Amino acid sequence: MNGRSGPSILLDIQNIDLRIEELTLTREELLEREEIKQLTERIKKLNKELKNLNQEKHSLKLDQRRINDEVSILSDKIKSKEEKLYSGKITNPKELVGINEEVISLKSKMDEKETELLELMEALDEISKNLEKKERHLRETLEEIKKNELELARKEKEIDQEISESKNKRNNLVEHLDTEILNEYENLRKEKGGEVVAVLKDGICSCCNMQLPSIKVDSMRDSSIFYHCDFCKRILVLPQNNNK
Ligand SMILES: [Zn+2]
Repeated sequence: MNGRSGPSILLDIQNIDLRIEELTLTREELLEREEIKQLTERIKKLNKELKNLNQEKHSLKLDQRRINDEVSILSDKIKSKEEKLYSGKITNPKELVGINEEVISLKSKMDEKETELLELMEALDEISKNLEKKERHLRETLEEIKKNELELARKEKEIDQEISESKNKRNNLVEHLDTEILNEYENLRKEKGGEVVAVLKDGICSCCNMQLPSIKVDSMRDSSIFYHCDFCKRILVLPQNNNK
């Protein structure tokens, strides 16, 4: 830091502060963060859809069981009627015709139930396929979240490291600076935000772009002194003549 004047150190501090601000903003606005938020919403929606589908499946299964029971009862009835019909014990033709008609009616009911069962099975098949699709989608989305979380953590770590290095650099620089001017700088930053240390180049303030009176510019020769812009009141630093 030999040969470095306060004003040029303050300019370095400002550059570091601006960089830290930029990094902090970048960290907040990392795309992965928004992506995770959206994917999490998708998961919520998928879970809801899965829950509905499972409820529907459950209710169809209950229907299926109920109709199967009905079919089994009908089948028993038909069997017993047919046994009666072909047992040879009943000889009354009218009675025989009656039983035969009952069998026909029972078989027609049975057909209806079997059609219902077929339709149910088709609906269940459709739901199963849909469930499978949604579950796959859910797994993929969870994987995507995980990927984004890893990427986010990696980027945050990288940024945090740079911020921490910048802060160390800043601490080292601050040691070489007068507390009074540092306080002024920090107050100005709170008040105005962004750049509060301007460079005077060709008599123009680099922040507000105003031309300073030539009398004042002529008086500003000492690069170890802090000046102020007449217009924006920012701290003015003279351009460094020697780069080292
Ligand atoms: Zn200015």
